[in-house]
Amino acid sequence: MAGDTVLVINSGSSSLKFQLVEPDSGEALAGGIIGEIGEPSGRAADHEEALRLAFTQLAEDGIDLKTCGLSAVGHRVVHGGKAFYRPTLLDDDRIAELEKLSELAPLHNPPALQGIKVARKLLPDVAHIAVFDTAYFHHLPAAAATYAMNRELADRYQIRRYGFHGTSHQYVSERAAAFLDRPLDSVNQIVLHLGNGASASAIAGGRPVDTSMGLTPLEGLVMGTRSGDIDPGVVSYLWRSANMSVDKIESMLNHESGVWGLAGERDFRRLHSMIESGNSSAQLAYGVFIHRLRKYIGAYLAVLGHTDVISFTAGIGENDALVRRDAVTGLGELGIVLDEDRNTADGKGVRRISADDSRVAVLVVPTNEELAIARDCMAALAQLEEFPR
Ligand code: ADP
Repeated sequence: MAGDTVLVINSGSSSLKFQLVEPDSGEALAGGIIGEIGEPSGRAADHEEALRLAFTQLAEDGIDLKTCGLSAVGHRVVHGGKAFYRPTLLDDDRIAELEKLSELAPLHNPPALQGIKVARKLLPDVAHIAVFDTAYFHHLPAAAATYAMNRELADRYQIRRYGFHGTSHQYVSERAAAFLDRPLDSVNQIVLHLGNGASASAIAGGRPVDTSMGLTPLEGLVMGTRSGDIDPGVVSYLWRSANMSVDKIESMLNHESGVWGLAGERDFRRLHSMIESGNSSAQLAYGVFIHRLRKYIGAYLAVLGHTDVISFTAGIGENDALVRRDAVTGLGELGIVLDEDRNTADGKGVRRISADDSRVAVLVVPTNEELAIARDCMAALAQLEEFPR
């Protein structure tokens, strides 16, 4: 008999990523991405067509969703607000509640909801479970979760620091502790998730105590196209002086800023070639990115008091040895010493890139959000069997 499988769906505004995962073995059986949804150049006019294309692709890979042991469809949902922080079995009521949250995350939650609706329509006999990107940070200490602003307004509008990429920060921190052969609750960690979206977290003995993203995924590190931290005064200044609408300013900070805003390029491979050929905008963009990253590493060292491990993950963190070098170079006084050969050596899986005499272990830990979501789904199903609603 086939083992349990979970179809993990990550539905964005213009793309739908899917992966069929076997949670026990950790194996990804098949998957892909349907991009450019709704664009003239794309293959899918909407999310329903995208999901149908995904099913066709799975069938071409020899996978029949009726006989592959499908236990659940796991949906990555970016924002869970204050109410949702456990993997949640989706029914009409829950979806209606989730819909209300779209106001908190207008750029991210609506496409996930679209994905949920079409997946429930096309796979009506399977459990659909939402796993939230904010969940891991739900219990951040109040001092880290609270913005120093008018408290009544913050309460009324559910304004707090939520944090995102939680699935990845949790997964990577567990892998890092396992790699060091130490119990999770005995290690302090800094996790640097550096992809197109980027975030850092400080984790004390398995509990997250700070993270760089806030009410939305816009706060914190410099990202591919997002500004990260910026003086909120910039927003009102642009609104007043450049006659830009709030929507326009939000869009600019999310889609036309970050490394792309400074250099016209967001892919770090091409950014490095531009720097090599003397492009000063690319050099500045890289400098700003690294400066912010180092600031967060320093801040989280102070938040934690000490750290045992710093882990790099996601597209840039896993692949870009120059970023890793520049993020931690010169921090020997703080117990962080990189081994240049280890850092530049090709490798797969979890690996150490710090020197043997580095007090802090510096690791590369490939993230696997799909597997973490699939495992969350199985755990939620097991709990439902034990304590039916
Ligand atoms: P996301 O999931 O947030 O879209 P990823 O984690 O897939 O992003 O990271 C994508 C980014 O990783 C790319 O935009 C690119 O900048 C960077 N990247 C991928 N491969 C490499 C590589 N070999 N060297 C340097 N950067 C890389």
